[in-house]
Amino acid sequence: MGKQQNVLEKIVSLAKRKGFVFQSSEIYGGLNGCWDYGPLGVELLRNIKEEWWKAMTFREDVEGLDAAILMHPKVWEASGHVENFTDPMIDCKQCKARYRLDTLSEQLSEKKIGKILNEFAGNVSGDQGKVFNEIYERDIDPAEKFEAILESELLNTSVLEITNCPNCGTKGEFTSPRSFNLMFKTFLGPVEKTENAIFLRPETAQGIYVNFLNVQGASRQKLPFGIAQIGKAFRNEINTKNFLFRTREFEQMEMQYFIHPGDDAKYFEYWKEERMKWYKDMGMTPEKLRFHDHPEDKLAHYAKVATDIEYEFPFGWGEMEGIHNRTNYDLSKHEEYSGKSQKYFDDETKEKFIPFIIETSGGVSRSVMAFLVDAYNEEEVNGETRVVLKFHPKLAPIKAAVFPLVNKDGMPEIARGIEKDLRSHLRVFYDDKGAVGRRYRRQDENGTPFCITVDTQTLEDQTVTVRERDSMEQVRVHKDELLTHLLNRLK
Ligand code: ATP
Repeated sequence: MGKQQNVLEKIVSLAKRKGFVFQSSEIYGGLNGCWDYGPLGVELLRNIKEEWWKAMTFREDVEGLDAAILMHPKVWEASGHVENFTDPMIDCKQCKARYRLDTLSEQLSEKKIGKILNEFAGNVSGDQGKVFNEIYERDIDPAEKFEAILESELLNTSVLEITNCPNCGTKGEFTSPRSFNLMFKTFLGPVEKTENAIFLRPETAQGIYVNFLNVQGASRQKLPFGIAQIGKAFRNEINTKNFLFRTREFEQMEMQYFIHPGDDAKYFEYWKEERMKWYKDMGMTPEKLRFHDHPEDKLAHYAKVATDIEYEFPFGWGEMEGIHNRTNYDLSKHEEYSGKSQKYFDDETKEKFIPFIIETSGGVSRSVMAFLVDAYNEEEVNGETRVVLKFHPKLAPIKAAVFPLVNKDGMPEIARGIEKDLRSHLRVFYDDKGAVGRRYRRQDENGTPFCITVDTQTLEDQTVTVRERDSMEQVRVHKDELLTHLLNRLK
């Protein structure tokens, strides 16, 4: 197993031990693709959403919305989800394991993929050979070549004949690829009839589109303006994998920016840069962030241009957020399917038209994972390994911990007083158990940026020790100035 994958295992285990993330329904063996956020995880989750909300809506041109998860079934016909929201799926006839064809490479080792490619190269000829050679010569890694071969209808059946099932190892026993719709279906009301079937939303965006004119009218916004929303989305993913990366229930933070049709290139660039800046402002390592532009032949049915903001996870680069130029596709479709005009009236030019939309679509849960991975550090301190989560202070679940050095000489009373004063402003934690060094380590693992210790000197001059998580430097601060000191550093 790669060193990087090992890091992921350490993070998953730390996340459980410290109460960031638990498996859903763990006592019943867990529910695949669903996770629960524990006491520290829920704070991290809320802080990410809060910072996104502030960045996106504390501005003149963006309004907020919270639409229902359940929507009229026609919405999903209009959006194209009933027809197009499918993934290609294959089954192993031997062990019945099911795989998403376009991500099968994630389940196979690099060595295995290399062997398959070599064997395939020796066997293909004619039209297949031409397509294969074109893919083989691309400057991409073997896993991407394998994915491209699986995407080719001309090649995928033949390559599957020499591929072993990642679960049972049997060679060439896969079914032909078929489409699987990812939407979760349920029924509205007590009767389980086809006409009562509805879906759990697979994205929050459609709730914004169908409210476009409601929001515009109520807020009296003029183009360009955006609508932002955070909420749950559900996808019946064929394979869930890599902890919080691909789950069946997750949260999205999406903003749809409505613009004049000719302004699309300008605002696409603008939002690309804004969103990348946000991840950097939240402390993410810039070298681990990149844009990945979608090639034209891989664009979603609604998109004219698309790019992903990717993070380098321990298992490789993965999408955290998509920025899409969705043109006037969605609103035109809703106009067609609902029979209600979705046109915007420009009172300066007196024109009526359907606006274009630039979408920024991020995953909250995927961000939690990326922020956890990025924050995770192991450091050698005095011959011991210190595990520390270096979250940006704005995202840290607990902002400060308060310790009495010893449980006597009036120190606990002073420490409790400080804790009480801080608690109405910040999320703080009180700890009087064990040696101070161990208490520091516990807070390092929680990602707490500041530890405050009441010690002997406090009894003399009312100052306390404030120890900073990343540098481990200690400074003395008068206890009456503590709140201002911390608030300045938490910005
Ligand atoms: P992928 O191909 O990785 O499944 P996608 O391209 O289908 O993702 P979008 O439809 O663009 O994703 O969704 C926008 C964002 O929602 C993604 O960037 C991701 O952060 C998040 N997201 C999508 N699917 C999932 C999922 N199954 N689990 C967690 N987050 C998800």
